[in-house]
Amino acid sequence: MVMKQLRASGGAWLSVGKTNLYIDPGPGALVRCLHSKPKLEPSTLDAILLTHKHLDHSGDVNVMIEAMTEGGFRKRGVLFAPRDALEEDPVVLRYLRDYLERIEILEENREYRIGEISFSTARRHRHRVETYGVNFKTSPRTVSIITDTRFFPELPDLYGGEILIIHVVRLKPVGDEPIDHLSIEDVKTILQRAKPKLAVLTHFGMTMIKAKPWVVAAELEKELGMKVIAASDGLKIDLD
Ligand SMILES: [Zn+2]
Repeated sequence: MVMKQLRASGGAWLSVGKTNLYIDPGPGALVRCLHSKPKLEPSTLDAILLTHKHLDHSGDVNVMIEAMTEGGFRKRGVLFAPRDALEEDPVVLRYLRDYLERIEILEENREYRIGEISFSTARRHRHRVETYGVNFKTSPRTVSIITDTRFFPELPDLYGGEILIIHVVRLKPVGDEPIDHLSIEDVKTILQRAKPKLAVLTHFGMTMIKAKPWVVAAELEKELGMKVIAASDGLKIDLD
């Protein structure tokens, strides 16, 4: 999906009051920001958050650090990232790290704050690199993001946001293969327990695209009796 750009892979921008946070700047993040209407100006970012270092979540992290700090001329901004994104086989270039005001390491079950945005991590996800989902304590609606993971029994209880964003790659589960992504079956289990006010599906693989994500979402909505939508490129959600 990323390599053919069948869907945009630039991640998400969260704005609360005067605070702007970029989440998972995958390939295309900078271009998508500058081409969006209205334009999202990366030099107004207060922080960038990486849920994990896989390329589809971090491909543009370096150029976004450059853009946030105006090419390093303004030392500013915070990077939140798991330790393995910075140490072993790092995805954040070392010469750029001095441009940042600071780097905060994401760890299990910890609280963080940037400006008007408070958030917490839960337990580490089951994914091949160090990965954390996020619970944003935003107002007037809380938002949770379940980023890449293999399903595990506690997962549905960890993310209680009123708006729940789920990265679902597969339409159907894939047997015993060591696949570290969620399927629609997993999503059903999660939604039945978490009961968000709105579920947003995103991060689709080819089987989801072929099944038409908006059709899959509509079927889930009917079956579960809750609001479920499929993200589309440039989707904007108003927290009000
Ligand atoms: Zn991943």
